[in-house]
Amino acid sequence: MTTRRVNLNTESADNYLKAVFALGGPEEERVSSTALADRLGVAPASVTNMLQKLATSPVPFVEYESRRGVRLSAAGRRRALEILRHHRLLETFLYEVLGYPIEEVHDEAERLEHFISERFEERIDAKLGRPKFDPHGHCIPALSGKMSKQTSRPLSDIEEDGEFVVDSISDQDSVLLKRLNAHGVTPGARLHVLRLSQEEFVLRAGGRFKPLQLPLSGAGAVRIRPND
Ligand SMILES: [Zn+2]
Repeated sequence: MTTRRVNLNTESADNYLKAVFALGGPEEERVSSTALADRLGVAPASVTNMLQKLATSPVPFVEYESRRGVRLSAAGRRRALEILRHHRLLETFLYEVLGYPIEEVHDEAERLEHFISERFEERIDAKLGRPKFDPHGHCIPALSGKMSKQTSRPLSDIEEDGEFVVDSISDQDSVLLKRLNAHGVTPGARLHVLRLSQEEFVLRAGGRFKPLQLPLSGAGAVRIRPND
């Protein structure tokens, strides 16, 4: 994959493309400027400004209409997947090779993902044995940009008690990530879920792990699949 240079701050442009990709979800729906401003922690006016630049660059990275929101162009999608591949390979490398704690890999990868060369990307991929998933359980896009869709649902959707397998955990909240990890709530773990109330869950990973009481807000960060 080639690194594309655009006539604007590449690092910040990359973060917009990643955010549109993440918020659009598997169906790649249009994303509102407000949702983007929230996710990126910037003023709505800055969002509009950047989206206009991305939409009018020589190779447009997004399709943008202020009333209908934004979605990625083919070039934007390619670039977002390339950065996502860097990010997830770096997280895996930091975790498995350098021994970073799980809650620290995301911030470090956020910094490094914009700058690694294609050679470095290839070397860590080979060193890691061409991993399919990062330590949070998320699919690492292939070099071709292909990424298989994961079939899982958020824990917050579970209405009834039961046994599940942890599919993936969001990397956005490091405090929550550390807490989940300490209670054995990690990708691949079998989980007994008790819906205590509308607002509260109790998770048991078994073994040496203590049960964890988790509010609805935290339960949205954990994705599960049926027990296999
Ligand atoms: Zn991350």
